[in-house]
Amino acid sequence: RWPEASPRSDRSRLLVLAGPTAVGKGTVAAEIKKSHPEIYLSVSATTRSPRKGEVEGEHYYFVSDAEFDRMISAGELLEYATVHNSHRYGTPRAPIDRVLAENRTVLLEIDLQGARQVRAADPSAALVFLLPPSWNELVQRLVGRGTEDDAERARRLRTARVELAAQSEFDYRVVNDDVARAATEIAALAR
Ligand code: 5GP
Repeated sequence: RWPEASPRSDRSRLLVLAGPTAVGKGTVAAEIKKSHPEIYLSVSATTRSPRKGEVEGEHYYFVSDAEFDRMISAGELLEYATVHNSHRYGTPRAPIDRVLAENRTVLLEIDLQGARQVRAADPSAALVFLLPPSWNELVQRLVGRGTEDDAERARRLRTARVELAAQSEFDYRVVNDDVARAATEIAALAR
């Protein structure tokens, strides 16, 4: 069992969802998008290649290393990081500025390093950490989805330990034992 959530900040227009590999961030984010269409789900740029079923511009913008470098130099990314010691991921700034200017809420689904950068850029951001019901459950989910080989799984579990150790930096902690409930809890933080 993990410690309970301890709310620190008020409702926010900028929600950041982070949490360890395979905890179900993508599933929860998709559920929020479905049940709260007024919340804009940011689409990241990444240098990794698409997985089966992933759609350009919907799940990610799949870009080359050169294009990612260009985006950094041009100041087009709100935050970026190398995740799991392999590929780079970053949040395009323009769509977020646009949505915030419309007084709508933005949800970012990013890693711990990115969450820290967003907090530094905008202290009003609400940082949400999504937790698995237990460590064993997390390992089971990662093995069960079968999208990584053994080496990549081991790498992701190492990152997961680091991320779990940083959960106290977050404003809210939500346990993902029920996707609909977790989504409702997170959407309720939107202003
Ligand atoms: P995956 O390759 O499984 O889609 O994502 C791997 C990790 O990258 C996840 O922890 C995800 O939250 C993180 N990630 C996805 N997009 C971004 C982003 O724009 N910025 C940062 N910092 N991390 C991201």
